[in-house]
Amino acid sequence: MIQVLDRNFVPLISASEIQLRVDEIADKINLEYISEPPVLLGVLNGAFMFFSDLVKRLQIPVQVAFIRISSYEGLNSSGNVATEIELRDDLTGRRVIVIEDIVDTGRSMEYLVKVLESKGVKDIALVALLHKPDALQVPTVKLDHIGFSIKNKFVVGYGLDYAGFGRNLPEIYVLEE
Ligand code: 5GP
Repeated sequence: MIQVLDRNFVPLISASEIQLRVDEIADKINLEYISEPPVLLGVLNGAFMFFSDLVKRLQIPVQVAFIRISSYEGLNSSGNVATEIELRDDLTGRRVIVIEDIVDTGRSMEYLVKVLESKGVKDIALVALLHKPDALQVPTVKLDHIGFSIKNKFVVGYGLDYAGFGRNLPEIYVLEE
């Protein structure tokens, strides 16, 4: 068990399990995008560690870009999707692979897909390290690659935070009941 600020968290997914899964996802992307270089679009802040590990394993030509979407405050989603969204790069006509830490209600992804479509991207793939199927509220959000499907519980580590802390942990922990 570990403590992040005032809360106890218990181990859920080990660092080695994460790394194995990142390998598998990278293998698939290496095959799928062999003919046209994609842009990997990382969703900050939570995806930074997953993004970095994944991009290092890609052996095809790629470009990177980042976007910020905010919807969580502490342990709960504020419900305000995309309180902040900034896309500086021109993605018109490009194949975009969105790299997200976790898909919870799916609202952030729904919004981001609409924004990307309005920018005239060629196609969009959604990759999430974690997915909470029981929390999904937007059935139209279809993920192309999922690291792990987990229960509808709050998690920290490997990029994910609790009130700004815990992002540096190399493994994933779940809030103790
Ligand atoms: P959605 O729009 O799918 O409801 O929320 C997605 C965002 O909420 C994620 O990118 C992440 O930042 C945050 N989020 C959802 N579930 C969790 C969780 O269990 N832990 C943490 N730290 N963030 C979460």
